[in-house]
Amino acid sequence: MDTKTIIETAEEHLIHTYNRYQIVLDKGDGVHLYDTDGKEYLDFGAGIAVFALGYNNKEYNDALKTQIDKLVHTSNYFYNEPAAKAAKMLTKATGMDRVFFTNSGTEAVEGAIKLAKKYAYLKDGSTDHEIIAMEHSFHGRSMGALAVTGNKHYQEAFGPMIPGIRFAQYNNLESVKELVNEKTCAIIFETVQGEGGVYPAKKEFIEGVRKLCDEKGILLILDEIQCGMGRTGSMFAYQQYGVKPDIVTVAKALGCGVPVGAFAAKDEVAKALVPGDHGTTYGGNPLACAAAVKVFELFDSLKVLDNVKEVGAYLASELDKIVAEYDIATERRGMGLIQGLQLSVNPKDVIANALDNGLILFSAGTNVIRFVPPLVITKADVDEMIVRLKKSLDSCR
Ligand SMILES: *Cc1c(COP(=O)(O)O)cnc(C)c1O
Repeated sequence: MDTKTIIETAEEHLIHTYNRYQIVLDKGDGVHLYDTDGKEYLDFGAGIAVFALGYNNKEYNDALKTQIDKLVHTSNYFYNEPAAKAAKMLTKATGMDRVFFTNSGTEAVEGAIKLAKKYAYLKDGSTDHEIIAMEHSFHGRSMGALAVTGNKHYQEAFGPMIPGIRFAQYNNLESVKELVNEKTCAIIFETVQGEGGVYPAKKEFIEGVRKLCDEKGILLILDEIQCGMGRTGSMFAYQQYGVKPDIVTVAKALGCGVPVGAFAAKDEVAKALVPGDHGTTYGGNPLACAAAVKVFELFDSLKVLDNVKEVGAYLASELDKIVAEYDIATERRGMGLIQGLQLSVNPKDVIANALDNGLILFSAGTNVIRFVPPLVITKADVDEMIVRLKKSLDSCR
């Protein structure tokens, strides 16, 4: 199919849930993507914070090919080696004791909610527990994950939402305290809000919520689907705060493109779920878990965390210069390689210009440009990005 036919065919047959750019991506190499016309793009989106290792990594590709030739799927009625290995690696990385593999981030959130409810049910036998979530949060689009997503626009047409969800203000500990009552079973938030506009949790906030949870016997669920897996410079962002959740959700970079997510919990919490409580046909299949195993191995051998710390600090300082130089850029926020540039205008035109200039960027929240590149980018890639970004900003001034 030629480019035009691909776009027309997709528009004719896909449900129109996305306004797509008129670009057909064809292949990737390192931190660059190429469209069907051969145009090159520097990728600062990584398929929405997914492709952490860059495209076409030989070791990753070979691991998947080997697994495909061996066994792709088994069902969860049997054991498989990649799942056992991946579970061990993920518990070590998160500091949790047990994991459940899912097919997506949304499903990880669903599982985390069910686990929290079951844990509370076993404690007091009641079935009307409440969960506190945050305004401007994003946890996914299924009915449970949507119910804890603090965005009325996403929820409106799909009501009624599951009951018992209350929304506090992110980074406002008092607003959380006001909502706590004897029915509260869990508090859920992103350690760094991603879709909401790149807002890292304040130290006092995350520490305060942890303390509150400990005092009241409430579970703390941290959603690290976007900010986890090394993106902030530690394997999980909460490790930089010295705070541990009771349940953590992971996805996006976990499989680096192969759909796999997980929720992990401390043993005391995890054992609330017993056979019959929760399940999935695909989740944790050998192919998905072989990807996760190789991702963890490559994080080690490529020293990804060191790179994120170094290049993340460089990206932040270069974006700070943009804020100093451009009136429409008002603030830079973020940690490591999840950075947001707050604009005073809608970033739509800047992002469209950037695509013309060979740079892939995503927006977030209100008027924010989000930078979530592959975690293997170099300072030279940042320099090139800044050149293309400036060009894109200049034509919007
Ligand atoms: C992307 C995202 C999700 C949803 O993950 P999917 O894989 O799209 O289902 C949930 N929470 C956060 C913080 C996310 O960034």
